[in-house]
Amino acid sequence: MTPLIGITAAHIDEEIATYPRHYYVQAVSMAGGTPLLLPVLNDNAKIEQYLKTCNGLLLTGGSDVDPVHFGNEPQQKIGRVYPERDDFELALAEKALSRNMPILAICRGIQVLNIAAGGNIFQDIYSEVSGVLQHSQKAPRPYPWHSIELVEDSILARIFGAGALRVNSFHHQAVDLVAPGFRVAARAQDGIIEAIESMDKKFVIGVQWHPESMVEQHEQFLKLFQAFVHASGLNY
Ligand code: MN
Repeated sequence: MTPLIGITAAHIDEEIATYPRHYYVQAVSMAGGTPLLLPVLNDNAKIEQYLKTCNGLLLTGGSDVDPVHFGNEPQQKIGRVYPERDDFELALAEKALSRNMPILAICRGIQVLNIAAGGNIFQDIYSEVSGVLQHSQKAPRPYPWHSIELVEDSILARIFGAGALRVNSFHHQAVDLVAPGFRVAARAQDGIIEAIESMDKKFVIGVQWHPESMVEQHEQFLKLFQAFVHASGLNY
């Protein structure tokens, strides 16, 4: 038996087409986990069943989160939102947190995770934060686009055995107020939060970049998936 990792599936055609190479599935598999896609389903009993079945939860990338979920009105630069997916993933994340289940949250996932845990996000960093770098990279998907600094003593720094990394970047939203019980684990040079981690759960990490599409060309990113799958293996 290998740890079963639930991977949230996109809800709509456009998002499915965003990930044609199944990067998440490949990365979990390369790291020794068994991937299982979790389709959007807004039914609490079935969400519980998903979580009972899985050993770890991977919250994937995708479109923007409706600001209604963190008490804001939509700003001009908000992107497309998909209410059913928001409802599903927020419920899934909340329940996974209360079960102390290992979670790896990627891109949109870090935003879902932070909101589910009581924090909030910038709807659009370019209009809400001054002097930000270009976080929508103008290079192929696996290419390391900007640097990040890992917080000393963070779980993330321990996983990578490094104080800094270069990562890819495909986001216009980002974590603003970090949820209670979490801390910043990495920032870009403009101060944008690039990773958060829980201070009291077993393994709950959110990253703003897309390590799953870097693992083939830049092997060190596999370490994150290996640590996640390992933590999920302790959750049988
Ligand atoms: Mn970035």
